[in-house]
Amino acid sequence: LKKDIELQVYESIPMRDGKQANNAFLQELPDPVTKVTWDNYVALNPRQAEKLGYKEFDVVSVKAANGYAVDLPVLFQPGQAMGTASVALGYGRTKTGKAGNNVGKNAFPFVTYTNGTLKYATTATLTATGAWEELAQTQTHYSFEGRSIIREASFKDFLKDPMAGSGNHHKHKVYDLWTTDKHEMLGNNWVMAIDLNACTGCGSCVVACNVENNIPVVGKDEVRRRREMHWLRIDRYYSFNDEQHGSVTQEKEIAHLDSLESVSVVHQPMLCQHCDHAPCETVCPVLATVHSSDGLNHMAYNRCVGTRYCANNCPYKVRRFNWFNYWNDSRFDNYLNNEFTQLVLNPDVTTRSRGVMEKCSMCIQRIQAGKLTAKL
Ligand code: SF4
Ligand code: SF4
Repeated sequence: LKKDIELQVYESIPMRDGKQANNAFLQELPDPVTKVTWDNYVALNPRQAEKLGYKEFDVVSVKAANGYAVDLPVLFQPGQAMGTASVALGYGRTKTGKAGNNVGKNAFPFVTYTNGTLKYATTATLTATGAWEELAQTQTHYSFEGRSIIREASFKDFLKDPMAGSGNHHKHKVYDLWTTDKHEMLGNNWVMAIDLNACTGCGSCVVACNVENNIPVVGKDEVRRRREMHWLRIDRYYSFNDEQHGSVTQEKEIAHLDSLESVSVVHQPMLCQHCDHAPCETVCPVLATVHSSDGLNHMAYNRCVGTRYCANNCPYKVRRFNWFNYWNDSRFDNYLNNEFTQLVLNPDVTTRSRGVMEKCSMCIQRIQAGKLTAKL
């Protein structure tokens, strides 16, 4: 058949087999590579999808050799082998609870049992349904455009040239706008180091951060509007290996590649950098975001008037705005607006109200607790 392809079903990182499908934190944790939340989908190589005449998010009917069929939106997935498609397990549960009921489609019936073995691959036919459904992705941008936001080089090359892989080989004169206003650091200067060589992009730290800091789950529609509240996100970038030009990282170059199979993925956890001369601080008209004497960028929630100038001026785009009172709004009907399940909240971290900006505090509550313990 023309549209017959190999279908692979797999356990996704956030959802695994779906046992925890009612955990809203996991539903809102983006897949490490596709960055999709709250759904499963049929992943196709963009070139394969073009061949089949599908645009991204076109809903197709996936019918397996055993006769089972589901309708799922198409996701363009660079690196997916041509002639194959994949669908995540763990979705489509109907009796798991408020957060997890009817999220995505059940892919378990694609799994067959042959000669005492579970088979997770089968052949399938894809048919367009004419529908279109936008998935809730937290990152839609593929590439790092050759900028030095993330650097890739071998250790050998790095030893020879510390600028290797950065694309920044020109020396620039460094200017300091604050030569007369040196910020005095009285005590510690807190920083957090993340080993990018070790990070696999799993996202466990994102969930841990959400739980520790009472970060609201906002649901699929709000994620689609780019209003997810995660203080810590894991950025994913692709780099494509082009035989002619070597490594290709810019989207306009990627668009011309014949094959999108040869791809490598890099992950970069991204959170507030607590910049020394923070650009977010200089634009706040009411000094709601200021620097501490130990090097942290603070937010005074009850001073914030919600101009969002700081978010606009943050080069790392790590600030999050409370568009709603997520803790007390029936439109966000998951366990976080229930007075009993709210007991899971961390009492050391205040919840934020509508109209207020928030962002990574470097777990200030833990730093303060450490200071108090040291004093005792
Ligand atoms: S830093 Fe976060 S995303 Fe990276 S491996 Fe550790 S827990 Fe996973
Ligand atoms: S919010 Fe952005 S600009 Fe402000 S300190 Fe954090 S990373 Fe820097």
